[in-house]
Amino acid sequence: MISSILPTYNRADLAFIKGEGVWLEAEDGRRYLDLGAGIAVNALGHANPDLVDALTTQAGALWHVSNLYRIPAQQRLADALVEATFADTCFFTNSGTEAMELAVKMARRYWHDHGQPERTRILTFEGAFHGRSSAAIAAVGTEKMTHGFGPLLPGFTQLPWGDHDALRAAAAQPDVGAILIEPVQGEGGIRPVPDHCLKGLREICDETGTLLIFDEVQCGMGRTGKLFAHEWAGIAPDIMMVAKGIGGGFPLGAVLATEKAAAPMTAGTHGSTYGGNPLACAVGAKVMEIVSDEGFLEAVRARSGQLRQGLESLVASHPQVFESVRGTGLMLGLKCKGAPADLVQAGYGEAVLTVPAADNVVRLLPPLNITASEIDEALSRLDRAAARVGSDAG
Ligand SMILES: *Cc1c(COP(=O)(O)O)cnc(C)c1O
Repeated sequence: MISSILPTYNRADLAFIKGEGVWLEAEDGRRYLDLGAGIAVNALGHANPDLVDALTTQAGALWHVSNLYRIPAQQRLADALVEATFADTCFFTNSGTEAMELAVKMARRYWHDHGQPERTRILTFEGAFHGRSSAAIAAVGTEKMTHGFGPLLPGFTQLPWGDHDALRAAAAQPDVGAILIEPVQGEGGIRPVPDHCLKGLREICDETGTLLIFDEVQCGMGRTGKLFAHEWAGIAPDIMMVAKGIGGGFPLGAVLATEKAAAPMTAGTHGSTYGGNPLACAVGAKVMEIVSDEGFLEAVRARSGQLRQGLESLVASHPQVFESVRGTGLMLGLKCKGAPADLVQAGYGEAVLTVPAADNVVRLLPPLNITASEIDEALSRLDRAAARVGSDAG
């Protein structure tokens, strides 16, 4: 008999009832160190007092009104995002997938209104992940994502990772309207796009007017030690998808865009009942206030250096388990020799939570405000988990 929850997830037999900072308490009272943060969502840890205050204050005043009216918290968050980024305008969603949907619509509408309606094609990359909607699975196009779900939304071409010639050839096709890329691939196995490649993409797009769309759903909101990952490369997209960390655990996403890219999205062209509601935006505005602070980002970079160095030693002391460390900021990956699920499982035994990704990688995406001593504790738990895996492997 089918379970009462649609069985699309293989869940660990763990249920948490309470969280505080980087710690999660399970039903049996055991405390786990959370290096997954709800897949890069709990950017400020669990039950962060500032976020609890922002949420409960808003909850006591007003939950929801719809986008038929002005929403002051939404306006505050939009102003903060526009102030801090390349963007001139924002649309709020409830998830990364919904941000993807709007990014696709915006790109197509742009070319429709610019007299080149044939430029519907969006180039994407092998290993990408943009969500699970019909557009998002078509964008990625793998058998794993699309099997049995056809016919797929047309208009996407997937390019191999790091193949500049294939990219140049594909981008020169007259029907290409946009290039969509994660500056750091998350699900694909923590693969950062080198800065010079992001710059190259910007140049290719500038040559033909092609829109550059960044999916910063996982790598944005301070995760790499800058507010958004593309800032490291000193270039900016035309459209950007944000979600995960921006709500700190409350469902919230956004599409940010330049005025030029967004101009065709006039009244009535898009909408969302919940998107940008007062509860979500009250929390999002507080997350933004904390994470966009330069001192906060400086601390993320310092913690990143510490964690990375610790992981390098971990890899050196368990050569039978690990191949290498990859990633940037507090978005780090351990490339494993065997199945990453083995390390994740061993981590449960040591009460440390990690997240598997493609390409045999275990992801470490801790809350951005993790402390130096919590990182030391995480490293010793990972060391013990690796020893468990190593003794099985040996
Ligand atoms: C998680 C993720 C998405 C989808 O976001 P949801 O909130 O799960 O819909 C899209 N793109 C990237 C890069 C992601 O990591």
